[in-house]
Amino acid sequence: MNFVSHLEGALNGARLDPYTQHTTHEERPILVRYDLDTAAKKLNRGLLRDRRQDMWRLSELLPLRTQAVTLGENMTPLLPCPELGRSYGLHNVWVKDESTLPTGSFKSRGQAVAISMAKHFGTTRVAISTAGNAGGAMAAYAARAGLEAFVFMPEDTPRVNQVETVLAGANVFLVSGLIDDCGKIVREGKNKMGWFDISTLKEPYRLEGKKTMGFEIAEQFGWKLPDVILYPTGGGTGLIGMWKAFHELAAIGWLDSTRMPRMVAVQSDGCAPVVKAFESGNRFCEKFENAETIARGIRVPSVIGDFLILDAIRESQGRAVAVREDRILEWVKKATSLEGISFCPESAACVGALELLADEGWIRPDEHVVIFNCASARKYVDIVDPRLPKLDPAAAIDWDAIAASSK
Ligand SMILES: *Cc1c(COP(=O)(O)O)cnc(C)c1O
Repeated sequence: MNFVSHLEGALNGARLDPYTQHTTHEERPILVRYDLDTAAKKLNRGLLRDRRQDMWRLSELLPLRTQAVTLGENMTPLLPCPELGRSYGLHNVWVKDESTLPTGSFKSRGQAVAISMAKHFGTTRVAISTAGNAGGAMAAYAARAGLEAFVFMPEDTPRVNQVETVLAGANVFLVSGLIDDCGKIVREGKNKMGWFDISTLKEPYRLEGKKTMGFEIAEQFGWKLPDVILYPTGGGTGLIGMWKAFHELAAIGWLDSTRMPRMVAVQSDGCAPVVKAFESGNRFCEKFENAETIARGIRVPSVIGDFLILDAIRESQGRAVAVREDRILEWVKKATSLEGISFCPESAACVGALELLADEGWIRPDEHVVIFNCASARKYVDIVDPRLPKLDPAAAIDWDAIAASSK
């Protein structure tokens, strides 16, 4: 049972039928809407007490009508990071560690819902343009659902993403270009190949999966939201989804709508279309030319959900900030070694934003700040050459050299 009432064109508010399969509306994203007045009367927070600790806990505000295609999407840990916080003079820094999800990134949340819905509507073949993790997740869920998958990724996508996608049985292609070039191929292939496009915001349901991050944060903080959320922004689905979740929870009376977090979209200065639009006061992004960052998940030069991201940031009195590309690896090492949480480079960019915003005084020492760790460094083995010293057990061990290596 859920409270879906209709679908809605995100830009023009057009009302659409929730019982048929949709892609976009006039080339803009579509949102799922719920009858929140009825939900407010029927639902209370106590309901959650006896439910499984997974992403489907608040199924009344999710769109599924049939059984979920699932790989066991656990609720992810919210971990205090006192050492990382202290290093910037902050007392309440938390990491939401999404790396514990199936396929090792938060892309599973979106794919679990999108693939479940695609299967429900009778789809047999799906396609995606991806910077890496979404392709890996989509391939896994498509395999689980028995759907045929086509995945298009840039040729320099991390090897782990290439391998996981192929192993899940998808048809994978390396494109000599970026994710928008991949997107063009998926679009052009639609008629000939008859596939359903699961790329970011090309259908309404990935966003609903990502929304569950907002549900979890609200619940894990005891229904009092943090002051600031730092989100590494590529297509922006997670930021848009959380903002939607907070409003839905406020509408059913579970949250105080006057205490919303300031949402911060974090990008690398190597690919910062959202930051450019934010700083110019625009609601839409221009394509970011010559985009390049080792944080592949946020290497998204053209942003289809631009106005949704920018609206959410502005409504929340948040920001869009670009951090230095040439320091991302430094932040990966710093955060991972201080806290033991394996930070992906995208989330390391958020550590950079933490540094910047704490320095500016925009984040105050006692404020509660959440950083999203969307995947882990384990998915990016190619970005570090560990250059480890070698030892020959047959020769005498140089203990002085070993002692000298101690940090
Ligand atoms: C996809 C991805 C992002 C960006 O998420 P969006 O919601 O698309 O903006 C950030 N980090 C990682 C690791 C990702 O895979």
